[in-house]
Formats: sequence, C-alpha cells, structure tokens
Amino acid sequence: MKSCPFCKAPVKRKTIEHVHRWGKRLFLFKNVQAEVCSQCGEIFLKPAVLRLMDRCTATGKVGRARVSIPVISLPDKVSA
Ligand SMILES: [Zn+2]
Repeated sequence: MKSCPFCKAPVKRKTIEHVHRWGKRLFLFKNVQAEVCSQCGEIFLKPAVLRLMDRCTATGKVGRARVSIPVISLPDKVSA
C-alpha cells in the first residue's frame, strides 16, 4: 500500500505497538509491522499480521508481561 484510502496521504512502514481486542479481552502487541498514514494516523495491518495476532490470542500463547489500563466511565450526559 502506498497511499491511505481515506485521505490519500502516503503511508509509511513502521513498527508499532497495537492493542488487539479478542472478545472482551485486550492484548497489547509489541513489535508489530504496520503501515501508518502520515496524515491521519490510520494504521493498516497486513492480513498475515492479523492472522498471527488472532492465533496468539486464540491459543493463549501470550506473554507473561501485563499492563494495567485505567478505566474511566464517562457520564451519560456531557454538557457542551
Ligand atoms: Zn490517512
């Protein structure tokens, strides 16, 4: 892929961290090869990379490292 399908800006190959959702669980993947739009920041992952992440999460082959993520519940009504 050479340009972003959304904003047409060039995309760049990058190694990123990516949060992957599997059911109700979240997994933080590191060292993920991705293409990132230089303008809107949209991330594009290759099908092979997505399959690999799905396989890791589905088989439970996950690392021992854990991160804790703050959970914030916003009020139903937000005044402008
Ligand atoms: Zn873009």
